[in-house]
Amino acid sequence: MAKIKIDISGKVAKPQVVVGIDLGTTNSLVAWVNPASGAAEIIADAMGALVPSVIAFGDGGVAQVGVLAKSGLVDRPDRTVFSVKRLLGKSYKDIAAFQSYLGYRIIDEEKDAMVKVQVDDRFYNPIELSAIILRELKQKAERVLNADVLQAVVTVPAYFNDSQRQATRDAGKLAGLEVLRIVNEPTAASLSYGIGLDRDKEQTVLVYDLGGGTFDVSILKIEDGVFEVLSTKGDTALGGDDIDRSVMMHWQSEQVVLSELTAVGDVHRLRLLAEEAKVFLGANEDKVFVHVFDLGDGSVVDLRLDYHGLEAAARPLMLKTKDCIAAALRDAQLKPEHIEAVVMVGGSTRYPEVLKLLSGMFPHVTVNNQINPDEVVALGAAIEADVLAGNRKDVLLLDVTPLSLGIETAGGLMDVLIPRNNKIPCKVGREYTTSVDGQVNLMISIYQGEREMVSENRKLGEFVLKGIPAMPAGLPKIEVVFALDADGLLKVQAKELRSGVVQHIEIKPQYGLTDDQVEKMLLEGFQFAQADIQTRLHQEAINEGQQLVYLAQRFMEKNANLMNAEEIEGTKQRIVALECLLQERAEKDMILSAVTDLNDYTRPFAERLMDVAVSAALKGKEI
Ligand code: ADP
Ligand code: MG
Repeated sequence: MAKIKIDISGKVAKPQVVVGIDLGTTNSLVAWVNPASGAAEIIADAMGALVPSVIAFGDGGVAQVGVLAKSGLVDRPDRTVFSVKRLLGKSYKDIAAFQSYLGYRIIDEEKDAMVKVQVDDRFYNPIELSAIILRELKQKAERVLNADVLQAVVTVPAYFNDSQRQATRDAGKLAGLEVLRIVNEPTAASLSYGIGLDRDKEQTVLVYDLGGGTFDVSILKIEDGVFEVLSTKGDTALGGDDIDRSVMMHWQSEQVVLSELTAVGDVHRLRLLAEEAKVFLGANEDKVFVHVFDLGDGSVVDLRLDYHGLEAAARPLMLKTKDCIAAALRDAQLKPEHIEAVVMVGGSTRYPEVLKLLSGMFPHVTVNNQINPDEVVALGAAIEADVLAGNRKDVLLLDVTPLSLGIETAGGLMDVLIPRNNKIPCKVGREYTTSVDGQVNLMISIYQGEREMVSENRKLGEFVLKGIPAMPAGLPKIEVVFALDADGLLKVQAKELRSGVVQHIEIKPQYGLTDDQVEKMLLEGFQFAQADIQTRLHQEAINEGQQLVYLAQRFMEKNANLMNAEEIEGTKQRIVALECLLQERAEKDMILSAVTDLNDYTRPFAERLMDVAVSAALKGKEI
């Protein structure tokens, strides 16, 4: 139930609602559990349910998000940011190869730091960009439900590492949302089919998620409120977009002029048509898609595609996803017949060949595809949010750590203290000793990952336990304790038990933000709110100037016979001066002083003319 709060004055405050958010690469959605029906529902407004994960920056840094921003992909690709999710928790180095595909600019100054996007002279990191999308979703929910939305469950791909999860959490914080939990997308999708809600039922589920630009297949074992990821395979460069590209290339191979298109906008237009053809033929297998493509130079090209053409274009993608499924089964050491349920996720699973593929591979199960594949993740997130808000006492959903955590031991080996899929919060301790006689310092290096050698895993941090009393090797008893809290924050403590020397560290993932940084970004947000006001005042001055130029010109045209030559010349000069300032978008104050100057100069004869007009009016004469 949504809580209703009443403040001291007796006014009814808005109800508070917790929501589930699917923050997608291509599209995002927000959902809630409607207390009236107890069912999860997608929150839609006049713009629809899907919020395209696209941000279009206007002049002065003001951003548009969603449907309205999408046209910017064609019109203003340099200031229209998409696929933010791919940048999350990544450095420039990680995505340099991907740069050519983006119409906007990413910055390569610090190769190892969090990647940044440049629009005009402003830089945005992926956390800020994700926060812009999340804030849009939050506000959409608040508008539609007429409620306050302060808490959310946000979903991420099962393969997201700790820093990407932390970045998502930080983005929520920046958007004014407390992220109750980061949930794996396949977990959320399963939940929306009711899988995992029954505590007594153990199940092995395969989730097939084919989105716009990513493919993931995950195998989950669900038992006692724990969704364990047995294996996850996928390709972050595989998805419905590949079908579009492939259809586009098919058209280009048929008509050479199309392969000569160079403008980003034209290529985008062709790609959008390829997508349209794909969607159309999926629903009309026996029809032919036809479109007349305008080349912009007066000539046109006929585009055609039938279902066979589409199938041929999509075949390589379908085969790759099939290989991924086989690999995921192998990794989980399972055979197809061990899978007890299959769940379909992602807009691209509407392509009819997907269902054929899955029914063929898993003939013994029914494939869960009744729920809208765009909405299934957000709906599941809403269910999880509802459970975490305490509205469903019958269900228990535990959080698990996605990757193993451990320390480096002799020879560069990874010694795991908290294995992956361990329930969190949790606390684990283990004893170690020194390997050298008289060793007084011990370096504790903390790693995350599944590999045997720490060099293959990701280093989270390190510290030195100092002041160990000199003893023969093997004698000191050093206890290392890992405590992982519900927010994924890891605290590591090392203590020499004989002497009581102790040292500890708190680990924040590498690309995550400290509270100070989040605070700083929030403050910057306020500062830019100031800048936005300045932009608006400037624009208002320009508008005022333009209007005055127009009025003064009209005034002169109408009343030239009532003004002397000097007045006409003086007015003209001032109009030209103001026009120049307007054209170069001069500073607000310069424009305003030119406006004042022109107004002051023309006022005496405007008044004189007014007198003429008034006396004429009094005489009943038209002028
Ligand atoms: P993401 O998870 O990456 O945000 P979505 O799950 O929203 O992506 O899927 C977007 C993809 O789904 C796009 O490639 C789009 O073309 C594709 N898609 C949407 N509807 C259909 C359809 N009816 N048939 C085939 N593909 C579709
Ligand atoms: Mg998705």
